Amino acid sequence: MNDRKLLLIILDGVPYANWRRYFGNLEGWVAAGQARMWKMRAVLPSISASCYASIHSGVPPQVHRAWGNEFVRRLEMPDIFSEVTRAGGLTGAVAHSFWSEFFNRAPFDMVRDIEYDEPGASPISHGRFHTMTGYGHANQMTPADPDLFATLTMLCERKGIDYGMLHTCTLDSMGHRFGHDCTEMDKACCAMDVMLQPYLERWRKAGYEVIVTADHGQSMRGHHGGAGEDQQDFALYYFGPAEGPPPDTVLDQLSLAPTILTRLGVPVPETMRAAPFLSA
Ligand SMILES: [Zn+2]
Repeated sequence: MNDRKLLLIILDGVPYANWRRYFGNLEGWVAAGQARMWKMRAVLPSISASCYASIHSGVPPQVHRAWGNEFVRRLEMPDIFSEVTRAGGLTGAVAHSFWSEFFNRAPFDMVRDIEYDEPGASPISHGRFHTMTGYGHANQMTPADPDLFATLTMLCERKGIDYGMLHTCTLDSMGHRFGHDCTEMDKACCAMDVMLQPYLERWRKAGYEVIVTADHGQSMRGHHGGAGEDQQDFALYYFGPAEGPPPDTVLDQLSLAPTILTRLGVPVPETMRAAPFLSA
C-alpha cells in the first residue's frame, strides 16, 4: 500500500439526469475545476445487490451469481475490502447489511453484525450497518443521511481507516415511491447534495480522495434492473489528483474496484479484469 486514503460514497438509485440537474454543489465543484465527472454504466442486471457485488468484486453478475436481492451471500472472490486488508490497510463500511453479508459474513446477525470492530481479522475492519427491516412503499426505513456521513467521519478520525465505503438507500427508496418527475425527488436530491457538503469538505481536508457515485440509475417510473441508459447510467464524481480519461468516456462499473485498489497501491487480483480509469 501507499499512503493514499480513499472514500467511496454510493447514493443508491440516482439516474444520470438527476445528478446533473439537482446536485448543484457537486456540479459546482466540477465547474470550479476541483472535481472531475464521468458517466458510469452499471452491470446487468441493474439490481442493487448485483451492483453492490460487482462494484466491490470487479466481476459481473454472470460470474459472482448475485442475480438479484434474493441471492445475497458471502462472495467467494477477492474484493476491495479483502485486498486492502491483505495489504495491511484498515477498511470501514457504513452501509446496508447486504454489504456485510457479501464481504464479511452471512447470514447477517442483528446483534453481532450491526456494529463490529475487527481490524486485521476481517475484510471489513470497522463495520456500521443497518437492515431497513420493514421497508415498504409507504415507509422507507432509511437512516438519516447526515447520521451516516457522521459515522463514516468518525471511522476516519477515530479509527484511521485507509479505505471507507458509505452506502445509503434514501434516494433509491424515494424513486421507487415517487418516480422522478415530481417535487419530492427535486427536493430530496437537493437536500442530499447540501447535507453531503460539510462532510465532503472535511474528508478532503483530512487527505482522503473521494468518489461520489451510484450503484445504478432508475427509470422515470422509479424502476431499475434492466438495460437502458435510464436504469444503468449514473454520474461519478472524483475528488483527487489522479488523471482520468476524456470527459465523454462512459466508464465501466467493473473498473471501479481495480481503480480504487490501484489508487491505494494495492495489487489488483487477477479476477478483476477491467482496466483502471484513474492513473496510478
Ligand atoms: Zn440500488
